[in-house]
Amino acid sequence: MIQQLREELVGLHQELIRWGLVIWTAGNVSARVPGEDLFVIKPSGVSYDALTPESMVVCDLDGNLVEGDLSPSSDTAAHAYVYKHMADVGGVVHTHSTYATAWAARGEPIPCVLTMMADEFGGEIPIGPFALIGDDSIGRGIVETLEGHRSKAVLMKSHGPFTIGKSAKAAVKAAVMLEDVARTVHIAQQAGPVEPVDKTSVDRLYDRYQNVYGQ
Ligand SMILES: [Zn+2]
Repeated sequence: MIQQLREELVGLHQELIRWGLVIWTAGNVSARVPGEDLFVIKPSGVSYDALTPESMVVCDLDGNLVEGDLSPSSDTAAHAYVYKHMADVGGVVHTHSTYATAWAARGEPIPCVLTMMADEFGGEIPIGPFALIGDDSIGRGIVETLEGHRSKAVLMKSHGPFTIGKSAKAAVKAAVMLEDVARTVHIAQQAGPVEPVDKTSVDRLYDRYQNVYGQ
């Protein structure tokens, strides 16, 4: 299982590049190891082109290195905190994607003004607290903001987005969709006010997309 996740994570980091969500090494994907208190994450500071299944590292839910030759991503403590406190989460993604991070810089939630936002996020994209790297304050901010919220994305103030999903792939999808809506709503607002989708419609769209849509 861990080997399979190591391989999957190589491909998912390529998706971050493919969708224009990252520069240099500033983004990471992790995956929970099902049935164990472990997750697999990108090593710190390794370029995306050089990532291999073997270079991925395995950590416990306190962020300690369990398996691997390289140091884990500097965001490992945040990922670990999310896995430890949100049992349904199977994947976590962090990027500094431009438009989502611009909303984070303003500290402004992205209003739910598009049906695709209702589909994927079930409402607005919330802002999380300002938190510095180094302890569990980023992870705590993510969990406190997303618990009891339908959104799979949080914009950490003055920092950038974290997304979660049932799997690492689902969390990457949320990161891609997030950047798309962050860009579209930003562009829409340049020409005038935008109007939120009404709550009843949001609920219907979210329910349909989460439970009926697809194969
Ligand atoms: Zn960051």
